Amino acid sequence: MSTAYERFTAHIAELSDILNSISILKWDARTMMPPGGAVTRGAQLATLSRLAQEHFISSTTARLLDEAEREIAGEADDSYHRRAVEQTRLYHDIIRRIPLDLVSEKAALEPVSEGVWAEAKKNNDFAAFAPYLEKQVALAKRQAEAVGYSEHPFDALVFEYEPSMTAAKLAALFADLKTGLLPLLSAIVANDQPLERDLWAADFPIDQQKAFALEIARQYGYDLSRGRLDIAPHPFEISFTRQDVRITTRYHANYLPMALYGTLHETGHALYEQGVDPALTRTALTLDFLGKYPVGGTSYGVHESQSRLWENQIGRSREFWEVHFGRLRHTFPEQTEGVTPGLLYRATNRVRPSLIRVEADEVTYNLHIMLRVEIEMGLLDGRLRVADLPEVWNAKMQEYLGVTPPDDARGVLQDIHWSGGGFGSFPGYTVGNVMSAQFLEAAHQQVDGLADSLTGGDYAPLRGWLTDNIYRHGRAFSGEELLVRSTGRPLETDPYLRYLESKFTGLYNLPG
Ligand code: ZN
Repeated sequence: MSTAYERFTAHIAELSDILNSISILKWDARTMMPPGGAVTRGAQLATLSRLAQEHFISSTTARLLDEAEREIAGEADDSYHRRAVEQTRLYHDIIRRIPLDLVSEKAALEPVSEGVWAEAKKNNDFAAFAPYLEKQVALAKRQAEAVGYSEHPFDALVFEYEPSMTAAKLAALFADLKTGLLPLLSAIVANDQPLERDLWAADFPIDQQKAFALEIARQYGYDLSRGRLDIAPHPFEISFTRQDVRITTRYHANYLPMALYGTLHETGHALYEQGVDPALTRTALTLDFLGKYPVGGTSYGVHESQSRLWENQIGRSREFWEVHFGRLRHTFPEQTEGVTPGLLYRATNRVRPSLIRVEADEVTYNLHIMLRVEIEMGLLDGRLRVADLPEVWNAKMQEYLGVTPPDDARGVLQDIHWSGGGFGSFPGYTVGNVMSAQFLEAAHQQVDGLADSLTGGDYAPLRGWLTDNIYRHGRAFSGEELLVRSTGRPLETDPYLRYLESKFTGLYNLPG
C-alpha cells in the first residue's frame, strides 16, 4: 500500500520528466541543432508543453493533491513533504486562474514581437516596435488581473520570478541602493585611472581559454561527471535534474574575460543545481511549474545571487587572481608577459558608466536594472505610455549614469526581454546582487577561517556553507526564508554596499 503522498509524488515525477525533456530539446536548439531543425523542433516543444499543461491541470492532479494535503496536514510547517504539496497547490491555483486564450495569445505574439524587435533594433526604429510593445503591455496587464495582486499589478508579474518581492519592497530597496551607489559612482568617475596597457591585446586560443576557465569551474566544485560546457551565442545554464547540469559560454579571441567570467557566472548557477538534495529529484521542490527559471533553484534572484557570488565576489577578487595567476601565465606565457595579479585585479574591475546593461560593471549594473524596473512599473500602472519610453529612458540614463544613448538601438531597444513580454524578470538581477553579499557576509561570520581558505584557493568550505544553507533545499523555501534562516535577517542592502564601498575605495584610491 502506498501513501497518498507517494502517489502524489509519483504523479508529479511524470510532470518533471516531461518538463526536463522540454529543457533538453531547448538546450539542443540553443547549442547543437542545425537551423533546418527549427520548425519541427517548434512542433515538438508545443506538443510536449501541451502534454505538461494537461497533466498538471488534470483531475488526477487535483484528486492526488487533495489526498496528499489531508495526509500531510499534521507535518511541521518547514517539512519538505508539506512544502512540496503547498507549492503544487499554489501553482495549481495560479495556472488555473490564467485564461487559456490569454496563454495562446501570448504564445502567438512572442515570436512575431521578437522578430519585429530584432528588426527595429537593427534599424534603430522604435516606432516600428511600439505597437507590439503596446500589445505586450496589454497582455501583461491582463495576466496581472487574472493572477491577482493586492497593491500593484507589477506584484503579480514579479511573483513569477521572485515570489518574495513586490513593487513596494523594490521601491524601498532601490531607494536604499541609490543612496549608496550614486555617490560611490561619482567618486569613482572623478578618480578614474585607466590602465596604461590593454591586457587583452593578444590572441588567446579558444581551446586554451576553455581549459583555463573549466579548470577553475572544477576547483569551484562543478562536477563534470554531472555537467558539461558548450558554446552558445547567449550563454545560459540549464539542468535536467541535479544529475545533468550543463553550462554554456561564448569566446572572444582577444578578450579572455568574456569566456572566463561567462563560464564562472554559469558555474555559480550550476553549483546551485548540482547541490540540491538528491531526495528532491523529480519532486515539486525541483520543478518550476511556470517555466521561468533554472528548475532546481527557488527563484530568479536566489539563482542570480549564486552566479554573481562566484563570478564577482570570488572571481573578481584580488585573492582569485593571486591563486590563479600562475596557471594563467603557464597557459598563456607570451600573451601575459609583464602582467601581474594586481593588474588583472584592476583590469577585471574597471568601472565605467556605459550604455549597455550586459557590459556593465558591478557598480553601474544595478542602475541599469532600476531604470528598467521603474519603467515596467510605470507601464503597468499607467503612469507611462509606450510612446514616451525613448525620452524617459534617456533621461534616466543621464540621471543615473551621466550618459545619454546616441540612438534607441543602444537605448530603449537594447534588451530582448520586453519583446517577449518578460515583465517582472529584471528585479532578479539586483535582488541577486544584494542577496549575494548578505549570504557571503554570513558565511564569513559562520565558517572559521573562510577568508584563509579562499586565499589558498580552497573553495570547499564556502561551497559547503552555501549547499547547507541554500542549495540543498531546492525550492522548499523562498529567497526571503533562506535569508532569514541563514543570516538571521530579511533582505538588506548594507552588506552589499559595504562590499562595493570597501572594494572600490581600494581600487580607486577614494577617500575612506
Ligand atoms: Zn545568470
